[in-house]
Amino acid sequence: MELLQKMGNRAKGLGDKAKDLTSKAQDIRKRSSGLLEATKLKFELSKLEKEMENNLAGIGLLVYQHHNGEEDLQAEIDRLLEATKELEEEAKALEDQIANLQPKVPVCPECEQELPTGGIYCSYCGLKVLDEENRSE
Ligand SMILES: [Zn+2]
Repeated sequence: MELLQKMGNRAKGLGDKAKDLTSKAQDIRKRSSGLLEATKLKFELSKLEKEMENNLAGIGLLVYQHHNGEEDLQAEIDRLLEATKELEEEAKALEDQIANLQPKVPVCPECEQELPTGGIYCSYCGLKVLDEENRSE
């Protein structure tokens, strides 16, 4: 039971940590432009993703404890769900911004894998991605 107790206490702090991270990421996102910034944004994104994993584990634990009859966890679960949702939205915004900062690479409309330049068929799913007359030599 001690493990659950420890994990539970940790989970209760997660919502606040998530809020810190999202507001920090938002700050960086507002300031960012250029390729160097993409690296920073990716770093922020990886932190958000890690935090989302933590939150989801925390939510799982709190739901489990709630199921086991522990009282007064619903508000904490809701708070954590809300914080995780915000993390997810901020992560999406970061992804968009990173994509905008980087040079566009052609991707297959079917499987979304990167396409080698000049290819006629996607090498992953075999979809015809270019008309032969449009092929760049
Ligand atoms: Zn494909």
